Amino acid sequence: MVDQRLQALRASIPPQPIAATGTVLDGLRRPLRDLRISVTDRCNFRCSYCMPKEVFNNSYTYLPHASLLTFEEITRLTRLFVAHGVKKVRLTGGEPLLRKHLEVLVEQLAKLRTTDGQPLDLTLTTNGSLLARKAQALKDAGLNRVTVSLDGLDDAVFRRMNDVDFPVAEVLEGIAQAQAVGLGPIKVNMVVKRGTNEDQILPMARHFQGTGVVLRFIEYMDVGATNGWRMDEVLPSAEVIQRISTQMPLLPLEASAPGETAERWGYLGPDGRHDPTLGEIGVISSVTQAFCGDCNRARLSTEGKVYLCLFASQGYDLRDLLRGDTSDAELGSAIAAIWQGRTDRYSALRAHLPPDAAHAPGRRIEMSYIGG
Ligand code: SAM
Repeated sequence: MVDQRLQALRASIPPQPIAATGTVLDGLRRPLRDLRISVTDRCNFRCSYCMPKEVFNNSYTYLPHASLLTFEEITRLTRLFVAHGVKKVRLTGGEPLLRKHLEVLVEQLAKLRTTDGQPLDLTLTTNGSLLARKAQALKDAGLNRVTVSLDGLDDAVFRRMNDVDFPVAEVLEGIAQAQAVGLGPIKVNMVVKRGTNEDQILPMARHFQGTGVVLRFIEYMDVGATNGWRMDEVLPSAEVIQRISTQMPLLPLEASAPGETAERWGYLGPDGRHDPTLGEIGVISSVTQAFCGDCNRARLSTEGKVYLCLFASQGYDLRDLLRGDTSDAELGSAIAAIWQGRTDRYSALRAHLPPDAAHAPGRRIEMSYIGG
């Protein structure tokens, strides 16, 4: 049975090897540049918009340990992705810091070089709960930066949103520690849900202004099938910008890189120009303004499936190939062929979907599995 599956997978390897030239284009001529790797499907938070308690409870079955990719397998696959043009790697999950000895993986990934001989931009997204303890080891292992998720400064609001009664102070301590060891520039991601934490927008902006931390507001997305997403709970980024700029004037800044998810806004100084000491914020408008046109991201799930879109319902299983007798050239060609066949642009099409198709249950992969 396994042999048959492996044979079918092997048939997906192109007969002629696809040379790793550092650039592979998908069906919409988008290059592969960014790889997000989920290292665990577990999390110690139960944010209602991501891993609601009603679903992710004692009877939920997580992936068994044997089906997780090992660090060596992740590093081998990443090396092959890098040969096809990946320059940025983000470790995510679930909560990536729950994966034991993650710094060992970081150390392996930090040794990889892009096709032009540069180190990878190696980063990690975390809820921050274990960051104070792990920041130094991660930095020593070669991690460049971290992004910390924090949905409010008010303790009651935050405890309610993470739904495990976790205090804000410990996340702030994690951010401080990450900054102290040099894991910056640090980004803080706040998912904004209308009616839940919209009153935290201004306090968060004030708290992080001038600290060197880049605060980014994310529109609540219809990802997965368990969060009961509703459009009326989305607070459009335009409204976030408008609310902040009434108190703290802003001006739009240039995108930092093609395919960048966040639109950047800088705080104005008294002379009416961007004051870099006050810093900047970002907005990620995945619902109201699709950014599929230059999306250059692939996602590798905890058990080795490649997903070409956050909203995909199917992945391409590389684990059996990895664990079969497959050469690097064959595996690299399979990766390139998967990318070449990509035409996904869910967010751009979402606007034209009927509302029930946009968030029909049971069709899409959960964020906690695929990695945010
Ligand atoms: N556990 C880590 C963390 O909390 O950052 C990494 C994984 S988490 C799935 C990655 C990011 O996805 C977090 O910033 C989280 O807030 C965001 N996220 C999860 N579900 C979301 C949704 N429905 N809409 C928008 N952002 C979401």
